[in-house]
Amino acid sequence: MFSYRHAFHAGNHADVLKHTVLIAALQHLTEKDAVLTVIDTHGGAGLYRLDGDYAETSGESADGIFRLLSAKNKALIKTRADSKSLAAGVAPAIQAYLDMVSSFNTPASLKVYPGSPFIIQRLIRLHDKLKLFELHPTDAKTLTANIAQLDAGRQIAVLREDGFEGLKKFIPPVVRRALVLCDPSYEIKNDYARVAAMAADALKRFPTGTYAYWYPIIPRPEAHELPRKLKTLATKAGKSWLNASLTVKSSKITTDKMGDEVRPGLPASGMFIINPPHTLKAAMVAALPQMVEMLGQDRHASFGLESGG
Ligand code: SAM
Repeated sequence: MFSYRHAFHAGNHADVLKHTVLIAALQHLTEKDAVLTVIDTHGGAGLYRLDGDYAETSGESADGIFRLLSAKNKALIKTRADSKSLAAGVAPAIQAYLDMVSSFNTPASLKVYPGSPFIIQRLIRLHDKLKLFELHPTDAKTLTANIAQLDAGRQIAVLREDGFEGLKKFIPPVVRRALVLCDPSYEIKNDYARVAAMAADALKRFPTGTYAYWYPIIPRPEAHELPRKLKTLATKAGKSWLNASLTVKSSKITTDKMGDEVRPGLPASGMFIINPPHTLKAAMVAALPQMVEMLGQDRHASFGLESGG
């Protein structure tokens, strides 16, 4: 049941999209002085080594954060003729993401990747609250130890509980402002149905909350259906929504010289946001084409941005 470890995937292209959206949303939500509660239903370990065994085995950050950084540096040195959008500079949302990751590292090297709990912690104010769920015993222990170092006291709670269920006890918060990040690993097929059920229940309990759901785009019916279900749910509830997706390569299975199947790995993912901050769409309009340029691996690289409500 618990084979997924985010350490293998930290800093991959899905994290780039997810964390860019998360930062842009939080930057807006923390502009108003009123208390904000942030609930991360699937927190992970919190911090990851990019030079450690897990990351080096998978090499996924090479096609994510490292590729983004090197594309930015290339664009700074010499604006490529085909790079119209980069010629005007890196989009503010991408720059904010790069600045966030850099702030956990020394200027000379990129060795640490911050997961969503630490990204959120950096952006909230002292009077805001953070609730972190993580069910994997090892990751929950690591997350607890990482968070303990912050000496944040009661501002941050780490719960080794099921995040889908656990969300219920925190919404609506006393001060009715909250951002919920729901980022399951989808290693269990049932996760798709659980996300949809949680989204429906959460909207009933707390209709004005901001909800950000990450989902993989893979050739699997449940994965295709999830953003459609979220869209129907938001529309029926009369809520605004934004669906941002990033494809970095083809999803086709190919064969190598030996005739063996080569699976492409995760080709694409999306973030579906219900009640998005009104500034988020413009931020993603500027960021997504650049992400395609910077992270695209073949001619199938593309982005999607839809909104409604
Ligand atoms: N949100 C993290 C980030 O952006 O850095 C990454 C989270 S990772 C994709 C998903 C995490 O959810 C894994 O660490 C996994 O152990 C945990 N998990 C799986 N099922 C869970 C559940 N029902 N409740 C809470 N955590 C769960």
